[in-house]
Amino acid sequence: MTSIILAGPRGKMGREAVQLIRETETFELAAAVDSKNAGKQLAELPGMPDEQALVYDDMRTCLEEAEADVLVDLTTPSAGKQHLELALDHHVRPVVGTTGFTDADIERLREKAEEKELGAIIAPNFAVGAILMMKLSQIAAKYFSDAEIIEMHHDNKLDAPSGTAAKTASMINEIRPHKLQGHPEEKEQQEGARGAETDGLRIHSVRLPGLVAHQEVLFGGSGQTLKIRHDSYNRQSFMPGVKLAVEQVMQVKTLVYGLENIIE
Ligand code: NAP
Repeated sequence: MTSIILAGPRGKMGREAVQLIRETETFELAAAVDSKNAGKQLAELPGMPDEQALVYDDMRTCLEEAEADVLVDLTTPSAGKQHLELALDHHVRPVVGTTGFTDADIERLREKAEEKELGAIIAPNFAVGAILMMKLSQIAAKYFSDAEIIEMHHDNKLDAPSGTAAKTASMINEIRPHKLQGHPEEKEQQEGARGAETDGLRIHSVRLPGLVAHQEVLFGGSGQTLKIRHDSYNRQSFMPGVKLAVEQVMQVKTLVYGLENIIE
């Protein structure tokens, strides 16, 4: 049985994670961390299922008092970063779904995880289909050196391009020779018309209400095109990835950044 502390249970991702833990026979909820409901049982929070797990408002106290194997953090970039480090300090394996980690953060936290011989996973995208989209795009880039990415998200998203689009571009660029897309003398009549450029590859960001998280990678070759597309229609789409990360974090003794490194 894997015992889990969940940070952010009232959030959109957190609510799905509560369901995931309840539905998975090998998972149990040890405690939750929520800045507004300290001392209550999770079941007392509005809209929560009948789950008896003590809610803490302070991560350090929770890690000290609740006996847990894994911390699943679905809060905010700044809290996620602090919580990951605190979890390692308390010998609890973190699975963090927030973004905002720099290369230097990752290197430092990897050293810490290895020193303590603990697994840690940071997954900027838990959607297994999106990870496969990236990996398949990398395979396609061997045969198609021309590609453009269209990423489409809900209009509450603050960053553009998405982390997944940037990562896909860098994975494609690892494989193909450097290539500036389009005509060498092309000129934008309106700034931004050709999208953001990453080492010659263009990323176009669409923001609309009604969308969740979608991406198309378009490859063009002589007389043919190939389109690889992934759609997340709701936050349930991320839960198989959360499950996989919790299972895998118990098996490794280092920090893994990105589910693409644990999905074959
Ligand atoms: P959300 O609905 O805004 O939920 C965030 C929750 O975290 C809220 O309940 C918030 O509580 C709580 N929170 C914030 N700071 C906290 C702290 N210091 N301690 C405890 N709880 C805290 O957001 P969401 O859509 O569920 O997303 C949650 C996070 O996951 C975001 O960072 C998002 O970018 C990320 N995300 C990741 C993936 C992925 O695949 N990796 C997919 C979707 C989203 P209050 O209401 O009190 O502020």
